[in-house]
Amino acid sequence: MRILVLLGAPGAGKGTQAHILARHLGLPRIATGDLFRAAVRAGTPLGLEVKEFMERGEFVPDETTVRMLLERLDAPDASHGAILDGFPRNRAQASALDESLAKRGSRVELALYIAVPEDELLARLSGRWVCQAHGHTYHEVAYPPRVPGVCDVDGSPLVQRDDDRPEVVRARLENQLGGLREVVDYYRPLGILRVIDGRRPIAAVTADLLDAIEPKPYWRA
Ligand SMILES: [Zn+2]
Repeated sequence: MRILVLLGAPGAGKGTQAHILARHLGLPRIATGDLFRAAVRAGTPLGLEVKEFMERGEFVPDETTVRMLLERLDAPDASHGAILDGFPRNRAQASALDESLAKRGSRVELALYIAVPEDELLARLSGRWVCQAHGHTYHEVAYPPRVPGVCDVDGSPLVQRDDDRPEVVRARLENQLGGLREVVDYYRPLGILRVIDGRRPIAAVTADLLDAIEPKPYWRA
């Protein structure tokens, strides 16, 4: 059973790569947010537990999250393993996951960290502008309008949502990077961390990820 952990900050392209890898490797992509929603919808005992936490606006405890994850790993489509997308989120979750997997004679095979410098993350996350009339969206770097501040389609002014302002994005990012750094530091000394340069185009990042997961035999390298 191959358990692969995919790590990356928001804006690093982790979600995109998780989907591509899942298809490529024939493994399910497991995101705890999806699991929570599915369990709540299905009304399972665990789902009811999760629902209470969510309704109180609290985080689901690590122990519950790990239990749900293990249950998911028991599903037939995960018999060969899975790609964990967005979990673990902090050191406590990483070590809880390890303990639970060890009890089943399993372990995390690799932690793949798609690394993107903070400045670049900020540029990717905060450059969004939206047209006032119809909500057409632009991005300062990735998809700029022909005339700055004006919608290409209808000529209406472009505005930036509060959520997309650099200072708001920076604060949110700082918050999320703390847990990510913990998890990276947790896996590094275990020798299973692979750092992938996430600044390049999607296909190049995918190729590096696949190389890290399935290194070519030395006689073919
Ligand atoms: Zn528009």
